[in-house]
Amino acid sequence: MRLIAYIGIGSNLGDPVVQVQEAFEELDAIPDSVLVARSSLYSSKPMGPADQPDYVNAVAALDTLLSPEELLKMLRKIEDRQGRERDGEKWGPRILDLDLLLYGKKKINKADLTVPHPGLHERDFVIIPLAEIAGDLNIPGRGQLHSLIKSCENHFLKKLITGK
Ligand code: ADP
Ligand code: MG
Repeated sequence: MRLIAYIGIGSNLGDPVVQVQEAFEELDAIPDSVLVARSSLYSSKPMGPADQPDYVNAVAALDTLLSPEELLKMLRKIEDRQGRERDGEKWGPRILDLDLLLYGKKKINKADLTVPHPGLHERDFVIIPLAEIAGDLNIPGRGQLHSLIKSCENHFLKKLITGK
């Protein structure tokens, strides 16, 4: 059976559009996994500290045989390869952020992995690109994606590049 994981991509340092596009390629190169959809690229205003550049965000769908833990490890590897520095500032600027949004219909609550991603349902820069490639998905514990769109926070999303 196909297991689809959805990955949230964000960047606001360096050349964010290029980094997000490279992230799609890197996701496709993960072992036992195939990139099956990429959303449009959007720009959004930062959450948390406001004295940082706007973000570029997108969502990818990955058909994968990896476990969620293996997948998270691969995401961190890609972040590190693209030069992400971890200085501990919550929601601080970053070269690349890859979050595991959804892993099939699974719910996970571990110290280092929460799925569905805890911020998913309230972030327009996640929900809108996700709806673009996933249709009206059910988010375990949160309801239908389309009803979440109406109530999520506004980060002044602007479409930059149309996905495929
Ligand atoms: P954030 O994305 O919240 O700005 P980080 O990317 O630095 O912050 O991630 C912080 C921690 O979040 C990581 O150590 C990771 O183990 C944890 N984490 C928990 N659930 C998830 C998830 N679904 N996707 C990605 N990271 C997660
Ligand atoms: Mg992250």
